[in-house]
Amino acid sequence: MNNSKDMAQHTKILYVEDDPSSAALVRRLLESEGYQIVHASDGLSAIAVARHEVPDLILMDINISGLDGYELTTRLRSIEDLREVPIVAVTAATLDGDRERALIAGCIGYIPKPIDVDVFPSQVRSFLQGAKEEIKSPEERSEYLVEYSRSLVNRLEKKIRELEGAHAELQRIEKVKSDFIILASHELRTPMTCIYGYIQMLLNNPDIPGVPDEEGSARNLLHRIADAMHRLGLVFDEIRNVSLIDTDRLDLAWEPVPLRSLIHGVVNSLQRIDATRNLQFELKGIDDLPTLYGDDKRLHQALWNVVSNAMKYTPDGGRIRIVGHQVQDTVHLFIQDSGVGIPPGEQERIFDQFYVLEDTSLHHSSKTAFKGGGIGLGLTVARGIIETHGGRIWVESEGYDEDQLPGSTFHILLPLRGAPLALSTVPTSASILEEHYPPPDASPDHEPSESD
Ligand code: ADP
Repeated sequence: MNNSKDMAQHTKILYVEDDPSSAALVRRLLESEGYQIVHASDGLSAIAVARHEVPDLILMDINISGLDGYELTTRLRSIEDLREVPIVAVTAATLDGDRERALIAGCIGYIPKPIDVDVFPSQVRSFLQGAKEEIKSPEERSEYLVEYSRSLVNRLEKKIRELEGAHAELQRIEKVKSDFIILASHELRTPMTCIYGYIQMLLNNPDIPGVPDEEGSARNLLHRIADAMHRLGLVFDEIRNVSLIDTDRLDLAWEPVPLRSLIHGVVNSLQRIDATRNLQFELKGIDDLPTLYGDDKRLHQALWNVVSNAMKYTPDGGRIRIVGHQVQDTVHLFIQDSGVGIPPGEQERIFDQFYVLEDTSLHHSSKTAFKGGGIGLGLTVARGIIETHGGRIWVESEGYDEDQLPGSTFHILLPLRGAPLALSTVPTSASILEEHYPPPDASPDHEPSESD
């Protein structure tokens, strides 16, 4: 192996080219000289590859889609680690001024395409050894600089227009989708309400044989149909509410809401649904909570969704704590379970529409059973309702572990009078909160819990 091949072996060249046959030709030519070649076919991946590989030389095709070669060169020049890496334009753009444009953008040289296979390797070698082209005349330089900045601004303006157009179109499609969902869930709910009404009429008829608990009797079957209809109605409502929240059309019926009875009401209704799970509820500070101004029904739903999740992701016999404090004009609730927990990377995403962590192929639908699934809208609705009240909701958990059961803590902040929370009153982490307002077992002299 000769000396120059030996050196080439340690030389890495990034070739940015969107035409596969040109890329293959250059690769073959340079690899036969011993160079290591890395390739990128568009501007954004070129930036990622260049950052990762920090090559000794970059060969840049100018006419690539997306960010073009000029813009990409300027961008690469602005990256600290790549500032010294020479960039050479390899391009079919051979009009008057193209060479100067490449140099103004930050290239140190220019190789016209089609490349001459006999001299290409020596051209590359000379750039690696420090050859550098320049625009000699300062006047010419500043002329090209002005032209280049103008073309950048023009491109930027064009791209912003395109983005604004795409954004407007997306908003239009989003609204069509939301309108459809609102209408469809309404249309589906209407006949369902009729069916539900007829079932209730039948159930009121003493001639229907059997008693509700008599497995398989007509009365028992009608009860089951009524339950299923009720559940279906809740699903339609949830879908409709998400669409209303999405389009800022969730109307609140403002009224005084006594938080004490709201929270006891949620816990009682959930315990009634499933008393077999042996979950222990601990309530603290709830009886001292004030009345706030909000929409009672919607707040009930938001809390119901959060507390029913705490039940669903806590194994039988576990504990659910609901702690409430008033901090100035804000009520802070935290709902802490001793369940499976939530991975840190998913703690924001679980509030997204239709986002569920479980494997959907193992889905079984339930409001309270351990790991019973829903359609991934419960937290979206809860967040929408709480934020429409000017509040905040977030979760903290050490992670997911079905054996260690690290649990999750959902924090809810609600302003007493529906005004958006002033940032300075918003605590940002559980540790700060727990330091100031210790949960029951962290404080030695806590008041007896108001078990439900
Ligand atoms: P769904 O309506 O299907 O219950 P949610 O929007 O309420 O969906 O919740 C989304 C996901 O967040 C759930 O699939 C679950 O994985 C996770 N999650 C929510 N609450 C808890 C919790 N207390 N403990 C563990 N995971 C939770």
